[in-house]
This record gives sequence, C-alpha cells and structure tokens, in this order.
Amino acid sequence: MSAPPATAHVEFRGVSKSYGETVQAVRELDLEIRRGEFLTLLGPSGSGKTTALMMLAGFEAPSAGEIFIDSRRIDRVPANKRGIGMVFQNYALFPHMTVAENLAFPLEVRGLAKAEIERRVKSVLDMVQLPGLGSRRPDQLSGGQQQRIAVARALIFEPKLVLMDEPLGALDKQLREQMQFEIKDIHARLGVTFVYVTHDQTEALTMSDRIAVFNAGRVQQLSTPNELYERPRTSFVASFIGENNRMPGLVEAVASNGELSVALAEGGGTLRAVAPEGRFAPGASVMLSVRPERIVLVTDGVVAPANEMPATIVQSVYVGDHIRLVARAAGGRSFIVKLANTPSLPALPPGAAIRLGWRSQDCLALDP
Ligand code: ADP
Ligand code: MG
Repeated sequence: MSAPPATAHVEFRGVSKSYGETVQAVRELDLEIRRGEFLTLLGPSGSGKTTALMMLAGFEAPSAGEIFIDSRRIDRVPANKRGIGMVFQNYALFPHMTVAENLAFPLEVRGLAKAEIERRVKSVLDMVQLPGLGSRRPDQLSGGQQQRIAVARALIFEPKLVLMDEPLGALDKQLREQMQFEIKDIHARLGVTFVYVTHDQTEALTMSDRIAVFNAGRVQQLSTPNELYERPRTSFVASFIGENNRMPGLVEAVASNGELSVALAEGGGTLRAVAPEGRFAPGASVMLSVRPERIVLVTDGVVAPANEMPATIVQSVYVGDHIRLVARAAGGRSFIVKLANTPSLPALPPGAAIRLGWRSQDCLALDP
C-alpha cells in the first residue's frame, strides 16, 4: 500500500474491531487526522469512540485494517512505544506521592536527568495553571485540580499526539466549561495534535477544529463544527447536533437551481427545501429538518420567506436571551421555535395565532 499524505498525522484505514461474534464496535473506519488539529470523536454511548481511541493508543488491537502515525504503520507497535499522551475520565494519582512526584515518576523510570525532570514538571504545572501545587498530595486537590494534573501528566513526555477520553465527564457544568477553554488553550499553545472523545455535542462544537460523528461504529460525517451544524448530511447528524424540527415528505419536483418542492407527508402543503448533497429525485422520500432559531414570525408588511405555515402557540418560555415557543401547526405538527429576545418582539401568549416562516436554504432535505 502507498504511504498516506504527509499532512496526515494519523490515519485509520479500513479499521474494524469486533468483540466475539456479535459486537461490531468499530466498522471499516477510514479517518485522517491532520497534524496539529483538534479532532473530536462525537457520538452516543456505545457508538465506538473509546474503541477507536484505544486502538490508536495501543490498548486494543484492530480485528482488521491498518493504523498509521506519521506514515508509519503502528497497529502492532506496543502502546508505550507510540509516543502518545493520554487522559482518561477516571484518573488515579498515587495517593502517597506529591503532585510533583506523581508527575516525575514516569520520567524517573525512564532515567531522565534530574534537572530535565524538574524542568518538565515545572513546565507542565505552569501549562495547566497550577504552578504552586507541586508539593500537595492528591487528597489535597479538588476534582478540577486533579483533572488538570491528569492533563499535565499526559503532557510530561512532550508528546506530538494527545488523546483524551471524556476527560471532563466527572466535573460539574461550570468547571467543565472552564476546563474546555483551558484544554483548547493548551492545544493552541502546544500546537500538537489532539484527539478528543465526548458524547456532549456542545463540548465538541466548542473545542474542535473538526468533528467525526460516530453512530453504530461508523463515522457519519467528518466536518468543521460550523458545517456539521449548518449542513448535516444525515438526519442522524441533524438530530444529534442541536435541535431540529423534523417533517417527513415526498419530493415533488427539483428546480434547475437545485431547490426541491417537498409535499409534506402529514398534510400542510408543499415546502421549499435544499438538499446539502443534491441527491434526491422526484418521488424520493425525505426528512426535512429546520433549526428552531431559523424560524421567524411572519408579520404583515414583511416579505415572507419561501416557507410559511399558520400555527397556534402551545407554550411560551422566557429563557432570557431568547423566547422558546412550542407551536402547533396544521395536522397537529409541533414546532420548536427560538426567537431572539429583541425589544420589537410581540406578546406571545399560549393560544395566540401566529405564522411561522423559514427560508428554503434553512429547510434541509435529508435521508428519511
Ligand atoms: P463509546 O466509547 O462510543 O461509548 P465503546 O467504544 O466503548 O463506545 O463501545 C462500542 C461497543 O463495543 C459497545 O457496544 C460496547 O458495549 C462494546 N464493547 C466495548 N468494549 C468491549 C469489550 N471489552 N468487550 C465486549 N464489548 C465491548
Ligand atoms: Mg467511551
């Protein structure tokens, strides 16, 4: 086989992993990870993210396929020879050693010089913003500080590739959000490649250069956060990343500019939509997807968008920066609408009649 392109830091080629006869954890994974990028494996629990990461780390062997780091095949290379730093969710420090001793230990085992060890311990403690805590014992650290030490420990070998598996899963929301930015910042400062696993879509969108969305052992889409959200290629991705209003329908016609006319399956007329992949012909079944924040209230005297639907407000929730409506349209179809909280917003009591509108380019036709 030919070597992968030089820009690829890591490449999975046709990698599968099965456990026994029935469990196919990862299926024919093809994935290129670029040098220096922050790539996230995102997907529901059980979709194969950890298995993929463990094969890269060297703690699981692929059942089929090949893995390359820097164009060198490594899927038979032992874990400790791959030059990878790792952070797990549940990280155990040696309780009887100080933080500095915990960090120094793996370096001492490898026989690094004392001065070099001291330099690296200081450098990684600075990196995770805990410069003064080297002499503490683990039980004198908060959960967030322990997690930072786990990150420091992953960096102490100065790896070119850092893997993290749900490292913030045990932390409360506020600390998790703070750590997301800190990890992102460390990535930016080090400039090395990070591969990060999470099931939390907000975390993935916040931190990543690119996201690989896993479902049932396969990558459904590999894109930037913006593209994943704006242009999901499958209805699984559209539903997993952010909220969306879904409507099944049948393609009636395809205009020369690619715009689709879609007859709604449960009544309510015909809508105009776009297909990100442009792959539907008249007669095809589709699932239309519209983001709640792309729906507007159509008022008199304003040019209506391509799609319009009368509806009744069922619920109206004040969320501060936006108003969240649940509205019911013809055929009992329910919509979620997020309206920015601006001074011009009218009163929106339950029972009020409104007109919902959205542009054709915000109405995505996806697989049913
Ligand atoms: P994720 O990290 O996305 O939650 P995993 O990679 O841990 O998913 O698991 C993928 C699938 O493989 C799941 O169905 C899981 O039960 C199964 N699996 C993972 N590890 C093992 C194992 N050691 N033995 C058997 N099945 C496993
Ligand atoms: Mg996992």
